[in-house]
Amino acid sequence: MTEQNQASTPSTRLLSGNEAIALAARDAGVSLAAGYPGTPSTEILENIAKEGSLYCEWAPNEKVALEVCIGASFTGARTLCTTKHVGLNVAADPLFTAAYTGVRGGLVIICADDPGMHSSQNEQDNRHYARAAKILMLEPADANEAYHFTRAAFELSERFDIPVLVRTTTRINHGKGVVQLQPAENISHRTFDTQRDPQKLVMIPAFARMRHEILEASLERMATYASDCDLNTTTRNGSKVGVITSGVSYAYVREVVPADWSILKLGFTHPLPETLISDFCCSVDEVVVVEELDPYLEDTVRRLGFACKGKELFGRTGELNPDIIAKGLGLDHRASDVPAKQLPPRPPVLCPGCPHRGPFTVLKKLDVFVSGDIGCYTLGVNKPLDSIHACVCMGASIGMAHGMDRVLSPEQRRKVVAVIGDSTFLHTGINALVNMVYNRSTSTVFILDNSITAMTGQQGNPGFGPTLMGEPTANVNMEELCRAMGVKHVYKADAFDTVSLETLARREVNRDELSVIIVERECILAFKDIVKPALEVNQSTCIGCRACLKVGCPALIWHEQNRKVSIDPTLCTGCNICVPECPVDAIITPKKS
Ligand code: SF4
Ligand code: SF4
Repeated sequence: MTEQNQASTPSTRLLSGNEAIALAARDAGVSLAAGYPGTPSTEILENIAKEGSLYCEWAPNEKVALEVCIGASFTGARTLCTTKHVGLNVAADPLFTAAYTGVRGGLVIICADDPGMHSSQNEQDNRHYARAAKILMLEPADANEAYHFTRAAFELSERFDIPVLVRTTTRINHGKGVVQLQPAENISHRTFDTQRDPQKLVMIPAFARMRHEILEASLERMATYASDCDLNTTTRNGSKVGVITSGVSYAYVREVVPADWSILKLGFTHPLPETLISDFCCSVDEVVVVEELDPYLEDTVRRLGFACKGKELFGRTGELNPDIIAKGLGLDHRASDVPAKQLPPRPPVLCPGCPHRGPFTVLKKLDVFVSGDIGCYTLGVNKPLDSIHACVCMGASIGMAHGMDRVLSPEQRRKVVAVIGDSTFLHTGINALVNMVYNRSTSTVFILDNSITAMTGQQGNPGFGPTLMGEPTANVNMEELCRAMGVKHVYKADAFDTVSLETLARREVNRDELSVIIVERECILAFKDIVKPALEVNQSTCIGCRACLKVGCPALIWHEQNRKVSIDPTLCTGCNICVPECPVDAIITPKKS
């Protein structure tokens, strides 16, 4: 028995979907897993790293991660790629052509959608990717299925010579459930090599045309298989109403529909099992489709010639829940004890001592239009900082600033600054900065370097190691990188020294050439040893002007009663950012008693 076999004899565990997928990768004999951190998928690779039985890595972006997995698959190794939904946009280029080349070792992509946008900039429905890229898709409905479907995905990938998308949603990734583990795959017979087969692996037009024909024939075989496989399940309770559903919606449907309604739960959702769907629709008087976001299943039911209800009852936006489904169906259901709307609001803010507070305090004073990006620092949009004025997707800040630079007048363009984090810059910001150099931009770019991928839970990145497997590694030198790309004016600045940063920023936004300011300070949560003693407000000096509150630090507390500010010593990290804001020097370091 291999070490892997011993590691996973059948057992029952309470796991999140992400933990279950990590164990499924181990038990399926995966040799390599790669991804880029993105909520709600991040913990999959973190759990794989913690488990320690297979090679895993963070890539600088999802495209690179998928390409790494494709390469390893071409040697015959099973590989797992993880991404959140918008990350698949970045990886779409290799994805679509990998459907043509097919695989050698099973290639599974876990794609975590975020209906309700708990931590995303959109709620795109990535089931459309499976259809557009012509790849196989499975949709688990709970943590147990996340484990079993991931394992099945590797077998199907190799059976049909195709990448498989396992599409999850936030509730599946983060929700916990009882998972029945199965014995691990025995992979000792597998050997990996670089066997040549250009007609399969080199997608020049002549070979790609052939591969496309093969792919279309394969899709037909997959559809036939889907109609018979046990990844789809039918619960026949009666012939009056039949519900077609998939993913997490299945749990909600089970909770609210009457006992005499039948349910078709689809787990194999591309290609869709059309024969199975047609048979189910024929067996009931009325069909209801329950699914989050787009009418992906509903459109197919209608195309097959069956009338159904769906989106007109439940809407196309946000997450579903039992209350929404019951209301849409006109059924009695005990509503959740505390309606979400009655819970106290808890708006997200930058942490006390967050180094991003410094540059935003400065940018607000410069009164510039800030082309922002994706990261903790997007919170700079909130008052009182109010210093992010556009944000579209990972790495977009620099390209957008350049677009503005090219159309605005010389005077107006001085009022545009791009702000991007270190991890996001390495993700997809580099190409846009190269474009700025090439196309003679005069913009100013702030790279906020906090030495970590902070927003998703403090992962390492090529700018600051170690690797996901804990190995020390070479780190990108941001300053040298920018100079090597041709940026002539590159500066480093201290995020906590807002006085010097303001002087530098005022000079550079007025320069008629491209400048990069790398604003450095580590994430206060990841590097706790940099916390300094809390500051305090001298109550007899404070004049209650509230100027310090403009930095938006949660440690600064306004007291209406005596109209003065104090500092919560349990929150303050002594970063000093608020100190220069006080006109009467009332913010001081407490004297040692
Ligand atoms: S020094 Fe000022 S800005 Fe920094 S954590 Fe303390 S109260 Fe907040
Ligand atoms: S800026 Fe200074 S004087 Fe004004 S409220 Fe804050 S601590 Fe008091």
